[in-house]
Amino acid sequence: MPDFETAPNESQLDLLVDLFDHGPVALITGAGVSTDSGIPDYRGQGTPPRTPMSVHQFSTEHRYRQRFWGGARIGTEHWKSIQPNDGHRAVARLEAAGLLSGVITQNTDGLHRRAGSKKVAELHGNGSIMRCVENGHRWNREETLAWFDVANPGFVEKNRDAQLTPDGDADVRDVDEVVVPICPACGGQLRPDVVYFGEHVPTTTFALAEEILAGAGALLVAGSSLAVNTPIRVINRAEARDLPIGIINRGPTAIDSRPSIAVRIEGGTTDWLGALAGRLGA
Ligand SMILES: [Zn+2]
Repeated sequence: MPDFETAPNESQLDLLVDLFDHGPVALITGAGVSTDSGIPDYRGQGTPPRTPMSVHQFSTEHRYRQRFWGGARIGTEHWKSIQPNDGHRAVARLEAAGLLSGVITQNTDGLHRRAGSKKVAELHGNGSIMRCVENGHRWNREETLAWFDVANPGFVEKNRDAQLTPDGDADVRDVDEVVVPICPACGGQLRPDVVYFGEHVPTTTFALAEEILAGAGALLVAGSSLAVNTPIRVINRAEARDLPIGIINRGPTAIDSRPSIAVRIEGGTTDWLGALAGRLGA
């Protein structure tokens, strides 16, 4: 991160505003938009979530599911304090004003939706949703954790001082005793509705991203170094349509030197997105 970072200046803001001359803008966001909500960017910006266990082990080994659920239950106390920040709220206002065709995000924190964004393609899923592996039933993480508490009385008290890991899980004791919640509709296994490293983005999700892009006259990247392939596919499609591209990010991105870049801003997304929405009257 450079140490010369400055507050939004007017001439750079002008260049960002110019992107909106071409019609609604498609926004791609990564981990950088959520750091001001207290979510550590320890994975590298916008890379797919890693799970400490493999997805295969999760689906085949009961003990891995016990460890996941125990850790998720303790870690959720930390996650309850996570809230959308002014950057997420600025994005929601821009969309409500008809200035965005939608948000394509690499984040799994669900904060864009919580801030009020409506059209959101969550490329890597949403960690606040639990999905039934057998039939795709979806449940809020919070309600599944309430089922966990019913099935595991005293667990929270016993593990209250467990060490939190950076991704919001926790190292809990007595995993052997954990009773794992199952889908109340069909008895299937439940897993986070996220696209883990090595898994594929669902075609319906990518189709929504393409729809957002199709409705846009320009593309803006905020808080992502674009280190992974899926957002790059979106960028390539935008370039094939000659859309101008803007970038707001701390640190280099994978596309900084491409000729399609109309404006490149080195800085934090909370300040810049807020200033942009303000300038556009959103
Ligand atoms: Zn089910």
